[in-house]
Amino acid sequence: MKAKPKTRAGRTRPQPVPQRAPRRLRGTQPARVAGILKRLQAAYPHAKCALVHRNAWQLLVATILSAQCTDTRVNMVTPELFRKYPTIHDFAALHQEVLEQDIRSTGFFRNKAKAIIGCARKIMTDFLGRVPETMEQLLGLPGVARKTANVVLGTAFGMATGVVVDTHVQRIARRLDLTKQEAPEKIEQDLMRIIPQEKWIDFSHQMIWHGRQLCLARRPRCGQCPLDDVCYAADKAT
Ligand code: SF4
Repeated sequence: MKAKPKTRAGRTRPQPVPQRAPRRLRGTQPARVAGILKRLQAAYPHAKCALVHRNAWQLLVATILSAQCTDTRVNMVTPELFRKYPTIHDFAALHQEVLEQDIRSTGFFRNKAKAIIGCARKIMTDFLGRVPETMEQLLGLPGVARKTANVVLGTAFGMATGVVVDTHVQRIARRLDLTKQEAPEKIEQDLMRIIPQEKWIDFSHQMIWHGRQLCLARRPRCGQCPLDDVCYAADKAT
């Protein structure tokens, strides 16, 4: 072991205390996650689902239509759609080609029309005309995956069954280093592990709002971001 330097009087010379690098929390440490949740809550206290709807069925239809489409566009289509076909029964009785024309502007209209009519028919036959309230039952409907089921269960029924992982949540969760995964199902599992269940619904809405307003895909507005001090994203705008 190297001897410590001594003064002329033979005393051990005091050593300079090494400067510690500032300790910034990273990854999914609980204190950091709590900080992120706190900032999101402060920034978006009233964030809610942007899809206009009056009941669980309308929300299910709007969510199916929102795939690869903006909520704004969906909200332009659905008022007339629900005026023409007010009930699940009306949708179940539709010919696919007819519905396709009604929802054409939302894109992928053939698949969406097929899924919506399929959902309506299954709900009529298997669930007495009421949108089912469990994840398992919703996943049994045509064209319904976990994201859609989480939207319906969280927003229409107030049930925290998971975290909605859409394109915004997918992007921001990675930027915030809350996950390293890329597949939505795996990202959701990571988020469910680190975020308290009672926050799942609000967290989903807040992340989606954040993605629309500040954490944009191409040019995130980091200078205005309330999460700037806890975000070390590689693609962060300076
Ligand atoms: S600092 Fe920038 S990259 Fe990080 S969350 Fe905010 S807007 Fe997104």
